[in-house]
Amino acid sequence: MKKYMYTILSLCLIINPLIASEVFITSPDRFYASKALLSETVRTDLPRTQVIDGKLGALPSNVLTVDSRTLTQSGRPLSPTTRQQITQAQGTYGTVRLVQELWKNTLDSFPQWCPVTGCTPICVATANWNKQPLLTINPHAGCVEGCALNAYYDPRTHELVFPQFLDSGRMKYTCSSFDVVAHETGHACLDAMVPGLLRTGRLDHRALHESFGDLTALFASLSLVSEDVQAAWLSKPSSDTCIGGDLTGACIRDPHDDESIRCEEHSLSKPLTRFMCSYLQHQWQYNTSGVSAGDVLRQGRKDFLTAILLNSKSDNILTGITHYFHNNKTPIEDSYLTLLTYQFKSCPLAAA
Ligand SMILES: [Zn+2]
Repeated sequence: MKKYMYTILSLCLIINPLIASEVFITSPDRFYASKALLSETVRTDLPRTQVIDGKLGALPSNVLTVDSRTLTQSGRPLSPTTRQQITQAQGTYGTVRLVQELWKNTLDSFPQWCPVTGCTPICVATANWNKQPLLTINPHAGCVEGCALNAYYDPRTHELVFPQFLDSGRMKYTCSSFDVVAHETGHACLDAMVPGLLRTGRLDHRALHESFGDLTALFASLSLVSEDVQAAWLSKPSSDTCIGGDLTGACIRDPHDDESIRCEEHSLSKPLTRFMCSYLQHQWQYNTSGVSAGDVLRQGRKDFLTAILLNSKSDNILTGITHYFHNNKTPIEDSYLTLLTYQFKSCPLAAA
């Protein structure tokens, strides 16, 4: 049981807030924009998903996609509290669907054929994705760990859980953060593509999962803004990558802060996230063929997923990914590659 709990918690969001100097992917608008997306763009062939809310019970899809002001309860208008909770559940559901659509689109951007001589990792990931189990979302779960800030994806039950937490004496819900919901859904999406393979308890696997969650939040947020804003971020991502600042006003994670790296998954994920941000910046900076900012981000997602899937059985997936980029002629300075390799190899990776 202890080991099982450890595995679940290893996928959680971190709990060491940092003060953000600049907040980028934290606008409250993102959360509500994701709700609006439901009626516009979300494709109909996404994984099966249900909302079983800790406060509201099971919420059918027609409740999740209408204006909460039109809903009634026993013929009477909803109380302000209930309406707010339904709005939060709708935003959570919308964000989950947005993230699922993002990775589904990425998978679909690969060639849709598989060699008869043997499946490629991309084919296997696509097949796994298409048969993933029902995903359950609980936007309003009770407190965990003394009402500390935390949220998690439980791979055993395929459940996204967003508990309430205490912030300066006020009870808040982690589901109200676009970044938190997107991060946790990233865990679920990666697990759907390589079920079990990257949740072994090994530190490099756990760190990869955390980086994937953070980059998912980043990609999802950038998918909701104009190409001008995307281009602005690509021009200077190093100062604008605060993740989770929409929850308490403080940045939950910033891959560019100068904290020394510890042998813990959230800490060890930061060099990889920072590396991917630098890669995207580089691809934009040296883009000479007039490719749009949106295309650079889409290709970056595809490259990241390719690197993960081709290295999913590496002895150390973190070094496997960075060396994959290096070997594919991405100009990584030797000193930077050496530093990353040193960081990724400096911790014992054995399962806890
Ligand atoms: Zn996480």
